[in-house]
Amino acid sequence: MAKVVLVLYPDPVNGFPEFPKDYARDSLPELPDYPNGQTLPNPKGIDFTPGALLGSVTGELGLRKYLEDNGHELVVTSDKDGENSVFERELVDADVIISQPFWPAYLTPERLAKSKNLKIAVTAGIGSDHVDLDTANELGITVAEVTYSNSLSVAEHTVMQVLVLVRDFVPQHQIAVDGGWNIADAVERSYDLEGMDVGVFAAGRIGRAVMERLAPFGVHLHYTDRFRLPAEYEEKYNLVFHENIEDLVKNIDVLTVHAPLTDETSGLLDEQLLSTMRRGSYIVNPARGAIADRDAIVRALESGQLAGYAGDVWAPQPAPVDHPWRTMPHNAMTTHTSGTSLSAQAKYAAGTREILECFFEGREIRPEYLIVQGGNYAGTGAHSYAEKK
Ligand code: NAD
Repeated sequence: MAKVVLVLYPDPVNGFPEFPKDYARDSLPELPDYPNGQTLPNPKGIDFTPGALLGSVTGELGLRKYLEDNGHELVVTSDKDGENSVFERELVDADVIISQPFWPAYLTPERLAKSKNLKIAVTAGIGSDHVDLDTANELGITVAEVTYSNSLSVAEHTVMQVLVLVRDFVPQHQIAVDGGWNIADAVERSYDLEGMDVGVFAAGRIGRAVMERLAPFGVHLHYTDRFRLPAEYEEKYNLVFHENIEDLVKNIDVLTVHAPLTDETSGLLDEQLLSTMRRGSYIVNPARGAIADRDAIVRALESGQLAGYAGDVWAPQPAPVDHPWRTMPHNAMTTHTSGTSLSAQAKYAAGTREILECFFEGREIRPEYLIVQGGNYAGTGAHSYAEKK
């Protein structure tokens, strides 16, 4: 019998919805495999209705029946921060810890050292930087995430936020809500995306999907990544490759950010880098908040060096109520929702179940789901997180 601790975001303030009565739609579309041929999550079974809210405490990622039928104990909480939190108390004898990047249960070196029974930390979603990966490596703890589960969800959100910034949607909508018709005010910062230079930092699953979705807008696409894309892909989308982010940002109007948070990417969008961008550039960062220098972003918006900043990731999470990104000028921030649409939840809940089935049945976890295993970066972790050799 194993103890599984599951940290999820709190339920809706007006109560947990009943499916399908309280939902906007009755079902989700059937989807093919992912664009690179990777198969969708394929657990032996699921005990939830796709399209229902699974990511908050009562939803339990649909895991309770499966775990209890197999004799395991499940503890679910949203109380994750501080020494007196339920998470801090329960992690000491947990075999499995599952958390979501939207509401990250930070597994610091101290917490990992306290979790003497911990064998696997699962990210229900993508991005395992909330786990101290060096310590997980040292302690031989497996870290796995549901690679691709919400990459396309984030790509859609990114495209939305690029358009929201460039066209300056937020104040225009507010004028409509407020009963006004001030067209000149509404359009004084509104541009067409067509013809702009758009640069993608990290062309992994999300970055490539963003470029593919933006190509029909008639933009000029640029990118950088540690690994250059195949020539035929570059030709298909007319991509300009830049050796590094320094060269990329000088040549674009819009930057979108899709790298994992690592020692190399932490604090990368700083005052110096921002100062080399074209005046009036836009940044959309749905990767990780700590890739950007919080105060440098605020100053660049205030000075006009940046014309807009959006994204949905913050540091820490949840962000404090007085976090300056909530109120800085020309922002279109959301609260880490891009990868947790109801559609995305169905995929990462099924993927989490698949990982658990493999773990409990002693079967291999797919390499694409692995970040760290047996004391080393593995699978996607070796490609996207480990230092480039
Ligand atoms: P991915 O593994 O497919 O792609 C990551 C890419 O980053 C790889 O191509 C890798 O080569 C590149 N990279 C890593 N370090 C780099 C560096 N220093 N310089 C240049 N390129 C670098 O992952 P993905 O599915 O595209 O997701 C990317 C990131 O987006 C995740 O790690 C996560 O932090 C974030 N994410 C956010 C949400 C959300 O809800 N906002 C959801 C999913 C993922």
